[in-house]
Amino acid sequence: MTPVMFTDSTGYLPEWLEDTSRFIGGACIALIAGTVTVMTSQMLLIPGASSIPLFTMNMAAYGAMLMVSSLNKEIKRDMEKINWNPYNSDVNAVADSKSISFYKGVFVFRYGNSGGSAFSYGVIGLGRGASINTVRHEYGHHKQQRLMGLAIYTPIAAIPSLISAANSAYNVHANRWYERWATDWGNRGLLWF
Ligand SMILES: [Zn+2]
Repeated sequence: MTPVMFTDSTGYLPEWLEDTSRFIGGACIALIAGTVTVMTSQMLLIPGASSIPLFTMNMAAYGAMLMVSSLNKEIKRDMEKINWNPYNSDVNAVADSKSISFYKGVFVFRYGNSGGSAFSYGVIGLGRGASINTVRHEYGHHKQQRLMGLAIYTPIAAIPSLISAANSAYNVHANRWYERWATDWGNRGLLWF
């Protein structure tokens, strides 16, 4: 019996052992980050301080996805696309994902068939037809949430944006001040890049 028995020719761990390690590691991350999120949840409302529960909430999602990746091949492929990096900044890998992804520390889940719609509130929901520009734009909204906290972001940006998106022509909607701001911040590095 030699140590070689436990490794494959490329020097990596066997897949089942990797899966098991990720499941256990993911459970630890989800438990710790989930606990901190609950403990700091009121900070979600506070400008700036909201960064803390927004961060731990998304890390809890990362832990959960590490766990699920051991059981679900599609999610595992999505995680491999971003090299298991929750701070992935490859916007194409996010747009190419099937079920889930991470962009600059934010959990992204895909919905629908080919729609290009999306939303950003704590995490990012992205229609399966959404473009890379939409990924950046929704991340811009996430930065607004870090800056303003949900107590300010919700009444002055989230709700007006929902109403505007439902009732205005696309160009009119995209031109609202909070939308132009989200696009701008999604494209350049302020508030955590
Ligand atoms: Zn928007």
